[in-house]
Amino acid sequence: MLDRRTKLMEYQTYIDGQWVDAASGKTLQSSDPYTGEPWALIPECDKTDVDRAVEAASRAFDSGPWPQLTPTARGKVMRRIAELIEKHAQHLGEIEVRDNGKLISEMAAQTKYMPEWFYYYAGLADKIQGAVVSVDRQDHFNYILREPVGVCAFIIPWNSPLMLATWKLAPALAAGCTVVIKPSEFTSASLLEFIKLVIEPAELPPGVVNVVTGYGPVVGEPLVTHPKVAKVAFTGGSATGARVNELAAKSFKKVSLELGGKSPNIVFDDCILEDAVSGAVSGIFAATGQTCIAGSRLLLQETIHDQFVEKLIAMARTARLGDPALAETQVGPVTTPAQYQKILSYIDIAKGEGAHCALGGGPASEAEGGGKYFVKPTIFTGVDNKMRIAQEEVFGPVLSVIKFKDEADAIRIANDIAYGLGAGVWTQSVKRAHTMAKRIKAGTVWVNTYRAVSFLMPFGGYKSSGLGRENGMEAIDGYLQSKSVWINNGPGGGNPFVMKTAS
Ligand code: NAD
Repeated sequence: MLDRRTKLMEYQTYIDGQWVDAASGKTLQSSDPYTGEPWALIPECDKTDVDRAVEAASRAFDSGPWPQLTPTARGKVMRRIAELIEKHAQHLGEIEVRDNGKLISEMAAQTKYMPEWFYYYAGLADKIQGAVVSVDRQDHFNYILREPVGVCAFIIPWNSPLMLATWKLAPALAAGCTVVIKPSEFTSASLLEFIKLVIEPAELPPGVVNVVTGYGPVVGEPLVTHPKVAKVAFTGGSATGARVNELAAKSFKKVSLELGGKSPNIVFDDCILEDAVSGAVSGIFAATGQTCIAGSRLLLQETIHDQFVEKLIAMARTARLGDPALAETQVGPVTTPAQYQKILSYIDIAKGEGAHCALGGGPASEAEGGGKYFVKPTIFTGVDNKMRIAQEEVFGPVLSVIKFKDEADAIRIANDIAYGLGAGVWTQSVKRAHTMAKRIKAGTVWVNTYRAVSFLMPFGGYKSSGLGRENGMEAIDGYLQSKSVWINNGPGGGNPFVMKTAS
């Protein structure tokens, strides 16, 4: 049971294998979203700390013991990390509940699953293979090496700090990279606990994993522009992602971006109704809607619209709001005051646009199970896909219901958006399931399920939802680069002024 009576926790950050304060000595406060009260002090780093961290990561990459480890030995270190997460899963989950307001039930599932990423990529570490290539030149021996890219900068949002850091850290370590992680200024504590309980005891060499805490522009920008950073892996909003991409482009860094979404959850009249209703609820009210893959546009076939909305409202009404530390709570607080205001302003926008508020539509009081930063599960019907409430990411428990006629209409509406992260389809027709999966422009399509993720399945966005993929085999490619090696075993010579193209 989470103890909220503890005094203000004071954290240090982790650079070059040492726990340190910010060079400036400054700290920022992290608040418990349930009480709205500060509960932790986090170092407020700046460019000086970023420089120290990147230098440490660069030394560890170039000359520390890390590059000397065989891939098999790296895999063993990563298995230790997985075991340590298993050992401390409950504590790590509780810290994230405290710092972020995530449900304890959700965190129990996440921290239980997180070790799998390290086991999986530990297994891949010694299966990184180059190739021998028979080129069209006699006496040549050619091969391709696959090498780690170097120092990687990770920028993490507040909504799932540990899980999203894991998605980057596991493939990067397997590839042999070193890293500097910048968590969100709102939710740094769980990552710092993770370093203390997992990374430090796993005995990674100093400088392999470093953390710089603090504000986005002050810490994130010097990190993204640092000349010794080879790759930036960013998860966050699309506007910040565009800024990060622009900054990184100036020094030609490799970049992966996991950005926002406005995912369509599409229900056909041949679905299993109860499953689809539950899938619609899970798509938008799980994690208080603060998830990039929220099924925030519910597309309902007009033939079942009224019946479906009635059942949906009945189920959403029963959602238990409350203390995220209690196992029975289903909808917790909004994580930050700014996000809370943003959600309420979108509710006003939707009302102003003429959408019909069929459920919720404002703050949830203590009498309703809510409190300081709670928003009632909200459903808008009569939404047109052109409205702002249908086009823009709210990142909260606010659902837009849009009617469609047939498959073609559903595809048109689903794709008529700048985003392309996820999509849900509810149907019993195999043909329709495959047709929809093929024609929806999104990185993930779930059929008769929603919000399922796995270390085995690539994850990422089409269009403004991002660049690159995390998870699965291809994620490791983002942390590797190829080197072509040409060995001439024959005579030299030939015309030195002409390119050597054929034997
Ligand atoms: P955000 O973009 O505000 O911040 C993300 C991170 O970027 C934070 O660590 C922040 O400090 C940092 N940052 C801010 N300004 C920066 C700058 N100028 N340079 C470098 N770094 C900077 O996002 P958020 O509010 O923390 O998270 C919510 C957003 O993240 C939503 O849009 C959500 O959809 C998205 N998200 C995407 C995925 C995905 O996998 N596609 C997963 C989770 C969240």
